[in-house]
Amino acid sequence: MRITIIGTGYVGLVSGTCFAEGGHTVICVDKDAGKIKMLQAGGMPIYEPGLEELVQKNVGAGRLCFSASTKEGVEKSDVIFIAVPTPPLPGGAVDLSFIEGVSREIAGEMREYKIVVDKSTVPVKTGEKVVETITRYCKAKVDFDVVSNPEFLREGFAVEDFMNPDRVVIGVMSARPVLAMKEIYAPYNAPVIVTDINSAELIKHAANSFLAMKISFINAVSVICELSGANVQEVAQGMGMDARIGRRFLDASLGFGGSCFPKDLSAFIRITETLGYPFGLLKEVQKINAEQMDRFVKKVSDTLWVLKGKTIGVLGLAFKQNTDDVRMSPAIELCQRLQQEGARLRVHDPQAMEKAKALLPEATYVANMDEVAEGCEALIIATEWPQFKKLDLDRARKSLMHPIIFDGRNLFNPEEMERLGFLYKSIGRGKA
Ligand code: NAD
Repeated sequence: MRITIIGTGYVGLVSGTCFAEGGHTVICVDKDAGKIKMLQAGGMPIYEPGLEELVQKNVGAGRLCFSASTKEGVEKSDVIFIAVPTPPLPGGAVDLSFIEGVSREIAGEMREYKIVVDKSTVPVKTGEKVVETITRYCKAKVDFDVVSNPEFLREGFAVEDFMNPDRVVIGVMSARPVLAMKEIYAPYNAPVIVTDINSAELIKHAANSFLAMKISFINAVSVICELSGANVQEVAQGMGMDARIGRRFLDASLGFGGSCFPKDLSAFIRITETLGYPFGLLKEVQKINAEQMDRFVKKVSDTLWVLKGKTIGVLGLAFKQNTDDVRMSPAIELCQRLQQEGARLRVHDPQAMEKAKALLPEATYVANMDEVAEGCEALIIATEWPQFKKLDLDRARKSLMHPIIFDGRNLFNPEEMERLGFLYKSIGRGKA
């Protein structure tokens, strides 16, 4: 198939590249001409494991190219995917201006039948608005279909997830585009759910809200564990071995963040309110998440007392492991809160330091994770990068002014850390 992706960000670049890997001919379009130039010159605007190699391979094979022109993308392809941002507005509603703008742009260039597929995460009924917009702005009055095809990839595992999806959701208004959509996804060997557009849109918001709920659930359990002296990791293991529950998304932490969960949860809450069924449970999920961060900051300030003028080391800035994405990162929020209290920060992240600099311009960026602790009052682990488990603990203990570690990701064993001479405070394992 000839495919164009409009919006070459985390979702667009991964989807386009993986479609090319599946044998399709793909044009990735972005309005950011600098990004397109960088990609055309062989550079990578984002870090995602395995992506760079796959881009190079498919560009080399002539199946993948980049363009700053929506006109070119629409003219040369049969199926146009929309993968532009859908950021939150103040109050939690979704800013759909990018979707509306791209719908108009596509409509203006359509001269023959096209399938327009929304991959961005959007509120239920957005597909209907896209149909109205294209109908209104299409000069040539040609036929088209609009499809909803929400994306479920996880940053940090995006290529793996895209190539091996649990399921592919295809929301349609008629049977006409189904065959083409199935052909596009045939190389990935996944179960395909064909449904109506509204259901497809709802699947995405309901799924992300459910996952956020699972995280908040275990975080609330972690508080109960601290109050009762139990161990949240063992509780999670015992719960998760029940096949009805499952172990994934049951890791107690600083709370969830990133560019999807907080915004999709707020959006879903707003959608349910607008539809006349305020989903109170989801407000509690948000509240637990906010409180989890408050509790962690309090743990630090209760231990170190006054933070003003104190230097603290922080390992991890990305919102999770394996990514350079710092959008809505709990690690960044934590750093900002510590800075508001007057702390000075020495920080390290394996991939996210460049992107973090805009949000934390005053921090000291340390290239080697083992050097972060030098001269610090305490060390904080804020992102679950697997390499942090290999931290030179002996060196950290000697480098720190006091051997104190706050672990927001439960990477170490509390008994072992105590044996090594640390005051070690983690999440939901024994007394806070
Ligand atoms: P992103 O910010 O990384 O990328 C979006 C890209 O769209 C940017 O490069 C931007 O320049 C471009 N763009 C904006 N307007 C454009 C226009 N008119 N024409 C061409 N390009 C345009 O965003 P993302 O993280 O890829 O998210 C995109 C959508 O996918 C969002 O709705 C998001 O909620 C959803 N989603 C994201 C993830 C994720 O893990 N990031 C996962 C599933 C779904």
